[in-house]
Amino acid sequence: MQTNAPAGPPIEVLPRDLEPYRRGNVAGIDWVHRFESGRPGPHVLINALTHGNEFCGMTAACHLLDTGVRPQVGTLTVSFANVEAYRSFDPARPFESRQLVHNLNRIWSEAWLDGSEDSPELRRARELRPVIAAADHILDIHSTSQDVQPFWVYPAFERNGAAALAIGRPAVHLVMPQGLGSGTPVIQHGLHGTPGHHGAAVVVECGQHFKRSTSALAIEVAQDFLAHFGLIERGRREATPREPARRFELLQTVVIQTPAFRFVRPLVGFETFDEGDLIATDGEREIRAPRANCTVLMPARVAIVGREGVYLARPMA
Ligand SMILES: [Zn+2]
Repeated sequence: MQTNAPAGPPIEVLPRDLEPYRRGNVAGIDWVHRFESGRPGPHVLINALTHGNEFCGMTAACHLLDTGVRPQVGTLTVSFANVEAYRSFDPARPFESRQLVHNLNRIWSEAWLDGSEDSPELRRARELRPVIAAADHILDIHSTSQDVQPFWVYPAFERNGAAALAIGRPAVHLVMPQGLGSGTPVIQHGLHGTPGHHGAAVVVECGQHFKRSTSALAIEVAQDFLAHFGLIERGRREATPREPARRFELLQTVVIQTPAFRFVRPLVGFETFDEGDLIATDGEREIRAPRANCTVLMPARVAIVGREGVYLARPMA
């Protein structure tokens, strides 16, 4: 059911054959590559394709592997998460290959991982569990269905904000004081979801799924992330001045309850609403701005019951 979906976007980046990347060097886990420097230092994970149609992470992971990246300290792991969904890509239905059954970015709780349900995503999450758990710092690379500016997403732990602010791009941050609110994402798995942990775990949303510029940014941010933790050296950055950081705090994650979910007007993200303004209806339910300057992020393209409809945030001082 169409709620917010204009004509399909141009597909500038197509999936490539990942078979050459299947056999990594982590016993028994396909599409995971690990490099040890032999020197002390953090274990950093660059994770791609948590969502199967978010190609920018794949581009960045392939770039790291193709250029022979090796950490000068610590350990680097590069992983392609939901390759099974990625392989189901159909250019005529480019949004369908996000996931096959479960959203691989919502099932990282013990309840799901140790539960009795089964799906391609649950099998893959159970396989990847030691990989996620072993990392000190995690960059989980994503993209958005709408063509909006790139942004970070992370739980409001100081360690996460410190890394994202230091890296500096993208300039926009979505900070989640209560976590995601609609499941447990990769970056909240295990210790990464707890206040006392030492490691940073962040999502970067690099732009629209299928744009070339999105893949280009993913490569840059992956390298910046590795450089931030000392794993690689980066040459001089381009001279473009950095934008000042703009931070938003997640207020509420709206999950779609009926197929009748509709926005009051087409939204792409970053629109603002005044307190009490109607943003969407979901059958009888009205979704209204809970406060002034309410900013919407990641509005759903189509209404799929049980999936996120929109994230409501407010600008942080
Ligand atoms: Zn995603």
